[in-house]
Amino acid sequence: MSLSASRCFVVLLAFVTASALFVGCQTSDPEAESDTDTPSEEAPAADSDTAHADSTAAPLRITMLDVGQGEAILLESPGGQTILYDGGTNSADVLGQLRALDIETIDLVVASHPDEDHIGGLDEVIAAYAPRFVLDNGLAHTTRTYERYLDAIEEAGSQLIPPERQTIEFGPVAFEVVPPPGDESFGQNDNSVGFLLRYGDFVMSSYGDAERDQFEWLLDTHPDLFPKVQVHKSSHHASRNGDIASVLERIQPEVVLASLGADNRYGHPHDEALLRYDGIGATVYRTDRHGTIRLRAYPDGSYEVEPAMSVAAIIEARCVNVNRAAPDELVRITNVGPATAQGIMAARPFRSLNDLARVDGLATASIEAIKTQGLACAE
Ligand SMILES: [Zn+2]
Repeated sequence: MSLSASRCFVVLLAFVTASALFVGCQTSDPEAESDTDTPSEEAPAADSDTAHADSTAAPLRITMLDVGQGEAILLESPGGQTILYDGGTNSADVLGQLRALDIETIDLVVASHPDEDHIGGLDEVIAAYAPRFVLDNGLAHTTRTYERYLDAIEEAGSQLIPPERQTIEFGPVAFEVVPPPGDESFGQNDNSVGFLLRYGDFVMSSYGDAERDQFEWLLDTHPDLFPKVQVHKSSHHASRNGDIASVLERIQPEVVLASLGADNRYGHPHDEALLRYDGIGATVYRTDRHGTIRLRAYPDGSYEVEPAMSVAAIIEARCVNVNRAAPDELVRITNVGPATAQGIMAARPFRSLNDLARVDGLATASIEAIKTQGLACAE
């Protein structure tokens, strides 16, 4: 592990908070849509979600934001650490989406490669959040977008991590960097920084916009970077030039997440890609149809998919976190008025809702009513 990686490891570990967190958020059922025009694709259905057995563990949250024809994925560890993998296009307002989701800090920004559909929004995000670390493929681009991205990193004082193979621990989650070849002759797509995300038995893979050349280079030089995964991020927006059959046969994903814009000028998704996913029995979720797609993953390997969720719907569906919510949110909880809300804020943190017994004015019966309401959580 490089010096930078070691430092990163140490600093990110410093963010680790108590691991015994419990969640009580409600899950909305995915909205199945008919795929009449693309018979090769499986229609997402409610029973494609895997019920999670390990309800005592806090989830790893994976959010593929709807950024049109581009890509931006937010990873939130159970310990509260946050990684943003790519930042969408210049016009996608990724910063606005992150703010709407109440994301307060971003510890690490990863740019898979410096094409505009992946780094367009990163200048604003980096300026606003000043992430401690930024990791990219290290290859210069000649665009204004890339210049603005570099300026933002310099201004924010973020530390650049070289795109070497390494594992970055963020809380109980391991983010293993899939390295680019680092050879300019491969082009930008085939110099993507990817990742393997592991949370116990759960594994997700992304190889950026990798095409055949990078996949073959990786298979040759890092063949162990293709484990069996539950979830895979479609390479290159479900282009026919993205995921290759030999990789899909190795990783055997149950779910494929594809980020693309409706009626995009590239014709994504290509039928060839959808047929490949269909051939391994994977269910495909697409931002052009399902909007922002959210997953919760658990260390026993199970996960839940919440497609068809706009940022507004996510905000509507989420729990009121007694450890973080503002007073105007806390009063949505039954038996909590303005005075009790102040008491909750003064008595933080809470390891569970039962801990609310420490708050003046909340009797055991009140806490039972709060649990029955199902709105509050202690995360
Ligand atoms: Zn792209």
